[in-house]
Amino acid sequence: MDVYRIRFGNLVLAISMVLLASCKDNPKENKATESTSEKPNLLYIFPDQLRNAAIAINGEDPVYTPNLDQLAKEGIVLTNAIANFPLCSPSRAMLMTGKVPYNNSVLTNANSKRYEFDNSWQRDDVSFSDVLVKNGYDAGYVGKLHLTSPPPIAGKDSVIWDAYTPKKDRHGFNFWYAYGTFDVHNNPHYWINDAKEDELKYFDEWSPEHEADVIIDYIKNQNNTIRDDKKPFALFWSVNPPHPPYQYVPEKYLERYKDKTLEELLVRKNVDLKTDAEDLAFHNGATRGRTNLAKEHVRDYFAMVTGVDDQIGRVLKALKEKGLDENTIVVISSDHGEMMGSHGLMSKNVWFEESVNVPFIVRWPVKIKGRQKSDILLGTPDIMPTLLNMMDAADGLPTELDGQDLSSQLLTGKGENPEYALYYYIEEGRPESGHRGIRTSKNTFVVTVDDEKHVRKFLYNNENDPYQMTNLAVKDSEIERKLHEELLQVLKAKKDPWLKKYKTIENTTK
Ligand code: CA
Repeated sequence: MDVYRIRFGNLVLAISMVLLASCKDNPKENKATESTSEKPNLLYIFPDQLRNAAIAINGEDPVYTPNLDQLAKEGIVLTNAIANFPLCSPSRAMLMTGKVPYNNSVLTNANSKRYEFDNSWQRDDVSFSDVLVKNGYDAGYVGKLHLTSPPPIAGKDSVIWDAYTPKKDRHGFNFWYAYGTFDVHNNPHYWINDAKEDELKYFDEWSPEHEADVIIDYIKNQNNTIRDDKKPFALFWSVNPPHPPYQYVPEKYLERYKDKTLEELLVRKNVDLKTDAEDLAFHNGATRGRTNLAKEHVRDYFAMVTGVDDQIGRVLKALKEKGLDENTIVVISSDHGEMMGSHGLMSKNVWFEESVNVPFIVRWPVKIKGRQKSDILLGTPDIMPTLLNMMDAADGLPTELDGQDLSSQLLTGKGENPEYALYYYIEEGRPESGHRGIRTSKNTFVVTVDDEKHVRKFLYNNENDPYQMTNLAVKDSEIERKLHEELLQVLKAKKDPWLKKYKTIENTTK
């Protein structure tokens, strides 16, 4: 009977029961119906720049997220989900391919400057959605993609960020309501399904609200016109807020925060609005000298989080009304976090927890008990093999992935837990460039190489110093030597091109 409730929704439950009774004499027909509904649906929601601290139930930021809190109570919460390369495009590419940047060609953010490096989602990388389609799924993508570097326009120097993704590069997604990068949250635009490149549609609405309506329609699937009701579905919802510009947020969500002081809002001990973070001047990815944005916009950031929570709440309600909530895996995550003044930094693309620690909440009532918490280290490339195996939809999953299947750990608590998650920072067109690091359950250790071939090391004890206030790397301690050795071993095993460059520098400076 569950099958019928999932299929038709509670409102027509009575009719379904009659149908079920009439099918009893026809076992063949009955069986066919059941087999099409066995696999769970997937609703993967990843608001951009949503740090893990900004989920109220985690007890860190003073933020209001009742829907996410409820979802967390009904599922499992991963406290150590790590965005290995905390930047839009590399993070999204790792999610979609299960591979690290130098193996999937997306080394940094996609835009027209990177067209020459082919810094885009590769057509021949068998991806998350390709595998879902092979396993009988309808796959949908709604919102920001940011995986295509568009060609530059002759005679124009300005960088083009937004991009049309042609059907042949959509990796099996057969419902498409998306764009590349476009941050005017109150006037969003989309290429919808068959729309050609010049058929972009604009809407005068806050993007999360507009997209929630699209998602609700997809779930409801009136008259079976949006998706195939006989197939399970996998829907990826890439919400742009709470990504900047922070001020594009409906007034109604600001109410809760507008009279709060900065001290009441910026509660992390490492917030420093005065420093210019000079010690990170070498890091081209760090957003320094912009802490005025934290003062001006922390209220907006939290208001956006509350607004996104509100819209997710509407979607979850629709899922329940359709009777699909029991056998739909709902995941809440993000591509990276937000520094919001911690260490004198804004934005992301650094190794600190505010930037790398993202939410990862999984609710799946038929298989996962509620009120669970796990400190398992889950990296971005692990998500694809983990969810596909959880869904029993891994037929065709590439064997040469960087990500690891952690489905057993999530479903049963059994299996060997990863000992680390890697950290990456890479510059355009140069897979050997940048920083590498290792985040264990206790420590964060990072080695950076800048353009002058200067090496720096950063080590934090996240247990004793959760706000990462003290860099222990200068002390050349036993733990530093151990982590350094471990990092080099892992990078060697993974054939990371950075290692050769680093060793050359190390040898010449010894
Ligand atoms: Ca992002």
